[in-house]
Amino acid sequence: MAKVRDVWRDLVLTLREHHLSGPTREARLMLADVLSTSPSHIYLFWDQDLAQEKMEKLYLMLEERFNGVPLQYVLGEWEFFSLSFDIRKGVFIPRLDTESWLEEAIITLRARFNHDQGIICDLGCGSGVIGLTTAYWIPGIQVYAIDISRPAVDMTLHNAGKLGIDSRVIVELSDLFQDFASSSTIQFDAILSNPPYVKEEEWFTLSPDIRLHEPKDALVSGSDGLDLIRRILNDSSSYLKKEGFLYLEHDPSQVEAIAEIASPTPLRWDHIISDYQGQPRATVFIRR
Ligand code: GLN
Repeated sequence: MAKVRDVWRDLVLTLREHHLSGPTREARLMLADVLSTSPSHIYLFWDQDLAQEKMEKLYLMLEERFNGVPLQYVLGEWEFFSLSFDIRKGVFIPRLDTESWLEEAIITLRARFNHDQGIICDLGCGSGVIGLTTAYWIPGIQVYAIDISRPAVDMTLHNAGKLGIDSRVIVELSDLFQDFASSSTIQFDAILSNPPYVKEEEWFTLSPDIRLHEPKDALVSGSDGLDLIRRILNDSSSYLKKEGFLYLEHDPSQVEAIAEIASPTPLRWDHIISDYQGQPRATVFIRR
């Protein structure tokens, strides 16, 4: 049997040989997964032998990575905003793009709702990262998480339980607000959304990791990438309280088109939030 320290060294070398970016980080996350520990604790196992079945699990993970399966699906778990979310094939992988604007949204909503009851909607929730992170960090918040995909709503519900906040989360299977069962009664303090916004023709330019493994419907939205965004901008005001927020993620190239689509609606354009690359990644609207 091999010592963990030797397995670590071979793992980093193998990942590097296969040209995977960030081999040390990947090795740390994979080894932590098979050791059922946190990535910062793998060193405590350095002098222990790695049991055969753990070694086999590691081989299987490596094989998946070499076949191009994204690390997030291989691990079945991913950190978002310091929280651990389960992720499975069939559900969109959370991105840093979303963390960048959500941070500001949470600060704003926290100032408004820390001691009061607030009710928000995560529209197109995927694995639930937006709504659940918001609810986790703001105890006064209740979340409606909506998605058209069954695997996505199941994953969100599962993650709500994992974070211990399921009593404040309601999950609904709906095509945006179209089949939203609670529609007639609810007005939200905020709607937060990372909808699909990639242009149909751009899909073919995305890396095979994405194209072969992630759900296309969670990324692509018509020829200009705005099909769903158009619907969201037209439908959201009826579900927002006066002075309620819409936080909408989009491609940096869609900024002007989005402001134009919203201009005849009761949504007042407020400001843009940039991502960690300095690109305009989300627009904030306020219901008049
Ligand atoms: N930012 C994502 C990407 O380019 C797209 C996310 C989305 O369509 N919602 O991979």
